[in-house]
Amino acid sequence: MTDPSSSGAPSERAGRVQESKVATVTSSKDRPQVHIAAPARALEAEAAAVSQPPGPPVMELRDVSVFYDDFEAVRGTTLPVGQNRITAMIGPSGCGKSTILRTLNRMNDLIPGARVSGTVTYQGQDIYAPGVDPIQVRRRIGMVFQKPNPFPKSIYDNVAYGLRVNGFKGRLDDRVEEALTGAALWDEVKDKLKSSGLALSGGQQQRLCIARAIAVQPDVILMDEPASALDPIATAKIEDLMRELIERYTIVIVTHNMQQAARVSHYTAFFTAEVDDKQVRYGRLVEFSDTNRLFTNPTDPRTEAYVTGRFG
Ligand code: ADP
Repeated sequence: MTDPSSSGAPSERAGRVQESKVATVTSSKDRPQVHIAAPARALEAEAAAVSQPPGPPVMELRDVSVFYDDFEAVRGTTLPVGQNRITAMIGPSGCGKSTILRTLNRMNDLIPGARVSGTVTYQGQDIYAPGVDPIQVRRRIGMVFQKPNPFPKSIYDNVAYGLRVNGFKGRLDDRVEEALTGAALWDEVKDKLKSSGLALSGGQQQRLCIARAIAVQPDVILMDEPASALDPIATAKIEDLMRELIERYTIVIVTHNMQQAARVSHYTAFFTAEVDDKQVRYGRLVEFSDTNRLFTNPTDPRTEAYVTGRFG
């Protein structure tokens, strides 16, 4: 894998959205202006409506399906991931959002019986190509999970962990401070770096996990419902942090919370589960576009039904 060239990050922030049953975006002036083109490719007669972000995507899924043994959990997903943007994946439970998220850094490799077809590229390179080391992929494309999972180690050692594993030769103290600052946690923990990471509150633990992820300076951060176990104040902190992180990183987030997707993301992918003509249930991407459009003027009636709360 070559080094990512992710400089020149645009710094616009996602607009805020009012909480309401129907998620509506109140301001779009700070959002990237995306001119909706025709669907990127017609993979099949019923291809998802996909509008491309501006500029080359940092990652791209092309016709990706994921199987758990014989079960096709999610079918034919084609989706770009815009650089220095937040891409959200929403949809009802079980439609394959986490499964697709895991394809982006080969986490599905760790699940016995899981198989991925199609192509997933990072900086234009197929991350499933023979000879690509999944450990190197995960160094560039880090992950934060639903439940904060600090190691039973000190705060310092949690953040230093990935650096030590990678044989980091620089000034460890500086990198630990930088990562904790980047995760908006430094001020709260700088006087107790030797305390256990497990002694922190849930919200602090999740920011510690984000610090651990960014310490190795990845390019992309995958977040699987990172705030679903947190209270509203801790959730707001994580969302603020995400807005700061996209100055340097690209974020893909799975969330069951539509308002959260509307508040933080630039682009949203809506998935649902369907039954095919052989009565087999599978997950699929229905629509992908800039978040403002997806929530206010979706192309597909299924997206509209979901975002207006009529199903799901
Ligand atoms: P979502 O994130 O949208 O809730 P998931 O990606 O978790 O959906 O799951 C999609 C489908 O794949 C579901 O039917 C789920 O039961 C199945 N699935 C997820 N993980 C596994 C696994 N490790 N083994 C077998 N089936 C799985």
